[in-house]
Amino acid sequence: MHPSIPSLLKLQEMDKKIIEIRKLLAKIPVEIEKIQKQLKIEEEKVAQNKKELLQVDLSIKEIEAEIAELKSKINQYKIQQLSTRKNEEYQALSHQIDNAIQKISDLEDEALDLLEKKEGISKTYKEADIQLHHLAVEVKKKIETLSAQKDNLEKTLSQLFEERKAYISHLEPNTLQIYQRIAASKPGSAITPVIDETCGGCHMRMTKQAYLKVKASDALVFCEYCGRILYFSE
Ligand SMILES: [Zn+2]
Repeated sequence: MHPSIPSLLKLQEMDKKIIEIRKLLAKIPVEIEKIQKQLKIEEEKVAQNKKELLQVDLSIKEIEAEIAELKSKINQYKIQQLSTRKNEEYQALSHQIDNAIQKISDLEDEALDLLEKKEGISKTYKEADIQLHHLAVEVKKKIETLSAQKDNLEKTLSQLFEERKAYISHLEPNTLQIYQRIAASKPGSAITPVIDETCGGCHMRMTKQAYLKVKASDALVFCEYCGRILYFSE
């Protein structure tokens, strides 16, 4: 076995930890974005409910105004009836009054339907609004937790970088360079054990000659297929 193998294995363990922490760190903003998106969807739903509620309210007010106008018209017609002497005109006014009464009745039905609709929307809106507040509190807590996790992971990462820096200063530069070059394309597995005469990285079967070299020689041996550094671990 090459004398640097144990140190390289230790270095690879450090690098694996660094890779793991970087993966966890990368997930945090994605997670935050996901929960903020959920909150936004709920906010939009509640805003839509509110808009519908205001719209129904407005329609009810419009109908009420229309009814008031019709009632005042009926009063005018009645006053006109009192002052007219022509039977024809009197009949025409009666007809107008009947029409207005019918219209009021229709509008009142419409207003009742809208009031019923308003009740339903109002209930949905209130429930959704309460849920939204709960969700907002939950999201805030989650983001705080994730931010704290991020801080901790960043601290651990910079500690690991310091440890790594100190550790590699004791390694033989050429071997270190070889390891770094392979690790750049095969992060976490630049150095790999031989398992059942196959490379632990790419799982290709080794030639007998290469196998014996790994087992017996103290030179660095590379997998002829993937280029990883091989070592014998049994
Ligand atoms: Zn290989």
